[in-house]
Amino acid sequence: MTIVAVLPGDGIGAEVIASSVRVLTALRPDVTYETAPVGGAALKLGLPAFPDETRALCDRSAALLFGAVGLPEYDQLPLDQRPERALFALRKDYGLFANLRPVRVFPGLEAASTLRSEVVAGLDLIVVRELTGGIYFGTPKEQRIGSDGVREAVDTMFYRAPEIERIARIAFDLARKRRRRLASVDKQNILQSSVLWRTIASELAADYADVVVEHLLVDNAAMQLVRRPTSFDVILTENMFGDILSDEAAMLTGSIGNLPSASLGTRRTAQGTFGMYEPISGSAPDIAGQGVANPTAAILSGALLLRYSLSDDENARRIERAIDRTFADGHRTRDLAPADGEWLDTGAFTAEVLKRL
Ligand code: NAD
Repeated sequence: MTIVAVLPGDGIGAEVIASSVRVLTALRPDVTYETAPVGGAALKLGLPAFPDETRALCDRSAALLFGAVGLPEYDQLPLDQRPERALFALRKDYGLFANLRPVRVFPGLEAASTLRSEVVAGLDLIVVRELTGGIYFGTPKEQRIGSDGVREAVDTMFYRAPEIERIARIAFDLARKRRRRLASVDKQNILQSSVLWRTIASELAADYADVVVEHLLVDNAAMQLVRRPTSFDVILTENMFGDILSDEAAMLTGSIGNLPSASLGTRRTAQGTFGMYEPISGSAPDIAGQGVANPTAAILSGALLLRYSLSDDENARRIERAIDRTFADGHRTRDLAPADGEWLDTGAFTAEVLKRL
């Protein structure tokens, strides 16, 4: 029996993951979709953010479909008790070091971008973000009182060569299957971890002579991404830079609600690579409960789940084509519609996607 753990989490997480499960169930009714609480939804039940029962479900699953965690009501909690801890535990405990974030401007949706249509038309890139290292995980990481009695805080950006090499290989291999261009992003003029990053990316480039490599400082990359976005194919970068650049890249497509992600590690199952699949956005508390969230990212995350964890590329493509057609036929969610334009709520948009599967 193939199990997919469904972890909707907080805010719009539950709304968009319901859409994704509707689509997955239509194509793969043979899979068991089992739901468990995570994040604030678990805290509300008096459980920790990542309860043992949820972990047990994840352990016996082929893949995890994740919504989002975090709500303003929990922002005053210490960092280690917040809903977001569940996310970091999942990534770290399952060794999900490779975060793939495909960014596409859907044909017909160019005008939804905040950039001019001719700048973004045809955009098709993928951000390969290192997910279990760097400043989000390095220690020391604390607030403390210095020896002079002054409050201070420290985070640590730390990388070991094998961590950089394994994510870089994934990016180079992906580039080979795409347009053979790779942009490695770092801050090697300031950060030692970036000097190592660039050294290793350059060494690997020798093994991939067929891939055209450019190295960019992160500040320049942020600028080039809005200046010449269609020149990018694969963007390889460390954890925090990838976090920030992929939100920027999302807006090129018109909305953060369009961007899915896959987080993969080394664990294999009978069906494929174990992974976690989630929209790149958060719980969007400002629109939660209104039924207006864009479910595209969640539905496309389901496609990535089929491709990588269930080795079902055929159905993954069906989902991707259905999304393309839904947009090409003029359907929009509220975040993508012009101010005076028509739009569909989450459920109605999902129904249009289902019709086109
Ligand atoms: P957010 O991504 O939740 O929202 C940013 C903006 O994008 C909001 O205006 C929101 O309405 C909009 N938006 C996001 N997804 C959308 C969708 N599918 N359709 C339409 N509009 C959408 O970021 P935030 O407001 O900074 O964070 C809210 C909470 O989410 C915080 O508690 C944060 O810690 C958490 N968070 C969780 C994750 C995760 O679980 N992976 C990621 C980022 C933030």
